[in-house]
Amino acid sequence: MIRIDGSKGEGGGQVLRTSLALSLVTGTPFQVVNIRAGRSKPGLLRQHLTAVKAAAAVGDAELEGAELHSKELTFRPRSLKCGEYHFAVGTAGSATLVLQTVLPALLSASGPSTLVLEGGTHNPAAPPFDFLAKAYLPLVRRMGPVVEATLDRPGFFPAGGGKFRVSVQPAPLKPLHLLERGNVVRRQATAMFSQVPFDVAKRELETVGRRLGWSEAERRVEELKRAPGPGNVLSLEVESEHVTEVFTAFGERGVRAEDVAAAAAEEARVYLEAGVPVGEHLCDQLMLLLALARGGSFRTLPLDGHAQTQIETFAHFLDVKVAVHEVSTQARDVQIKG
Ligand code: AMP
Repeated sequence: MIRIDGSKGEGGGQVLRTSLALSLVTGTPFQVVNIRAGRSKPGLLRQHLTAVKAAAAVGDAELEGAELHSKELTFRPRSLKCGEYHFAVGTAGSATLVLQTVLPALLSASGPSTLVLEGGTHNPAAPPFDFLAKAYLPLVRRMGPVVEATLDRPGFFPAGGGKFRVSVQPAPLKPLHLLERGNVVRRQATAMFSQVPFDVAKRELETVGRRLGWSEAERRVEELKRAPGPGNVLSLEVESEHVTEVFTAFGERGVRAEDVAAAAAEEARVYLEAGVPVGEHLCDQLMLLLALARGGSFRTLPLDGHAQTQIETFAHFLDVKVAVHEVSTQARDVQIKG
């Protein structure tokens, strides 16, 4: 049985989610110990437990240790089942991360699936729904499968209550090569807000104008009337000829709107200056898709801990080689061969 130490590398939920995804796809059982040992609240939180149970439903898996705060889990998948699924985190924990746990398996299942996911849709330290819909899923579609996501209502921390739907039409994943960004063709800053003063959104957009030089036509405010609780998200979309990237910052009590916007603007600035197609977050998520396709390449920023941890986790389940070449101080080429 494959034994994974969750304290290694990044030490977060990703080791667990990637292991679940790869276990489902390969049909390989595994045991993980020291789950999320690197985090302040270690073990399985509601979001991770939902991901575990979602993976167990999709893979008809036998589970040991699937309890809140558990630090050890054994997962034995039996057979992949496509179909209709409804997964609810039950807190504001990220529902997009639950989707990403089961999506790889459903991409290669024997028939189509539809999913309803409930929980947080716009969470710090997780892919926000807009990133999923505009940056991540278009790349999945380019690799073959047809996956569409629609947002019913956003869910923010702490109220949660977000909901979105996903349809999956599986197809074998084809390798993807994404070494060039091409020219930037569209830039859009969206300051979304629910039950917080309009002024917060306005000041965020002014900061984007000042820091990145984006014009008024490239900035818009969106009031999210269906969100069950307060929230504020600034989303910066950069659409280029060959790829779209999305950078996000979250409003927080006690943090000035200008500082929230500055964080997203800085991420976008680093990406734009580096001239790479793939940003920091898309990097670790795209890597998993290419590993499943047994091939592909992309240019990105210097790899963060999440990307390194992905590479280490792949080695437990897949016979793929991941090579990283330094192109310049700001750019790396990642090549995956199976
Ligand atoms: P972990 O911290 O181990 O739970 O993993 C978090 C996951 O969320 C990683 O795949 C990150 O790349 C992803 N992520 C975190 N922040 C963002 C963001 N702002 N946009 C897109 N993905 C993100």
